[in-house]
Amino acid sequence: MIENNQATGVIYEKDAVEHTVKAHHEVLLSGGAFGSPKVLMLSVIGPAAHLQSHGIEVIVHAPDVGGNLQDHLDVAFDYEVNTTDVIGIGMAALPKSIRQWRKDGMLCYIRNKSDTIYHPIGTCRMGSDDKSVVDLEPNVRGVSRLRVIDAFIMPTLISANTNAPTIMIAEKLADLIKANHGHVEPEIT
Ligand SMILES: Cc1cc2nc3c(=O)[nH]c(=O)nc-3n(C[C@H](O)[C@H](O)[C@H](O)COP(=O)(O)OP(=O)(O)OC[C@H]3O[C@@H](n4cnc5c(N)ncnc54)[C@H](O)[C@@H]3O)c2cc1C
Repeated sequence: MIENNQATGVIYEKDAVEHTVKAHHEVLLSGGAFGSPKVLMLSVIGPAAHLQSHGIEVIVHAPDVGGNLQDHLDVAFDYEVNTTDVIGIGMAALPKSIRQWRKDGMLCYIRNKSDTIYHPIGTCRMGSDDKSVVDLEPNVRGVSRLRVIDAFIMPTLISANTNAPTIMIAEKLADLIKANHGHVEPEIT
């Protein structure tokens, strides 16, 4: 629920019944790579042209909502070998033209066979620039009382698994929020 550019609560449906949760202080969104930008866009926060193309009224033009998706590449090689001359091992001993041919072949294989896997991030990018989706706290720009807290505020992908850094993001923000507000019970109607 966005009223006068303020997040005032959440409307959700369970067992075909609509519920409203009013927020005393703020709303925290943790919907994941595709869930968080989708909820933002349905709450009329997103790239103006994209929202308008779906007939959605725009309250906050946030151009990078849903963009900047990054993920790790995954590619599997299957080899049957009976020497140590596997790709990489023994390459230095080969003539330059053969090395190049093998390298080109390997790159072609990776381009055709790789896919992305398990670690999407970036669709609600944190940054200090105006185009970023959330600021450094991470409040959604253009709306008050609304934060995104999940893996998708990472602006660039780390070269490791993403679960532990996501927990770190959540712990850090939980500390910040508790310091600001203490513990409060939601009001569910
Ligand atoms: C198959 C798989 C294996 C993985 N293995 C590893 C691993 O071994 N190690 C590692 O470090 N990382 C791993 N990861 C990555 C890790 O799971 C993610 O980085 C992490 O879960 C991100 O947490 P998150 O809270 O940002 O998002 P998520 O865990 O995706 O949580 C988002 C939640 O929001 C919910 N949601 C979305 N939209 C709505 C909506 N409209 N209403 C209500 N709820 C909604 C979703 O159902 C989901 O429960 C793996 C990921 C996958 C997919």
